[in-house]
Amino acid sequence: MFNKEFGVFSFLMCLVLVSVVGCYQVIVTGPSGESVTTGPTSSKHQLKIFRHARATLGDEDQDADKILKAATDVAKSNPDCNATLTRDGDVEEFTWQQEDEVGVVSSKYDFEAVTSSRGVKVVKDVQWCGASETFGAYWGCALIPGIAMVVKRVPYQDNPDYETEGILWLHELGHAYGLYHVENYPKRVMLPGIAPEHKKLTKSECG
Ligand SMILES: [Zn+2]
Repeated sequence: MFNKEFGVFSFLMCLVLVSVVGCYQVIVTGPSGESVTTGPTSSKHQLKIFRHARATLGDEDQDADKILKAATDVAKSNPDCNATLTRDGDVEEFTWQQEDEVGVVSSKYDFEAVTSSRGVKVVKDVQWCGASETFGAYWGCALIPGIAMVVKRVPYQDNPDYETEGILWLHELGHAYGLYHVENYPKRVMLPGIAPEHKKLTKSECG
């Protein structure tokens, strides 16, 4: 009886751990404005976008639309994917701690505070994404599944790299929709590391 109960407890704890985060270490991860259980599909995804006061998103937040368009183009470059990502209203500024908080997600507390409400949360930096042993540099982080994601801006040689950011947003959106990382498949969006050539989404991931 004890063993059975302990087994159930262990299983539940494992679920908690597994469901904590899908991250994008060194090279990336994505957004979500919706809570669903399937991958990004042949439909329109309207994402509410929030920008931390310390994060930049271009003049009048115009980079948001460029990233969303890049993400849509990457998705539609796959023959079985017709996903469209659009902005849900104006980009809104947000903070989650005290007045002097600097927009860096560096702890579980930060992450939970930022992802407790739906939307894409653009922050200054992402330094925590679940497992403490991988503490370090992330491009994004999202619950699997979840209602929100955090992402940082990803400059390329000091210039915006909208396409790579679009892949990052797709990746995190995939997590929010319940997708886990894939391994050993070249050029897939859901590979653990984000890269400009990782543009492939399968039909099931997209639908
Ligand atoms: Zn990931």
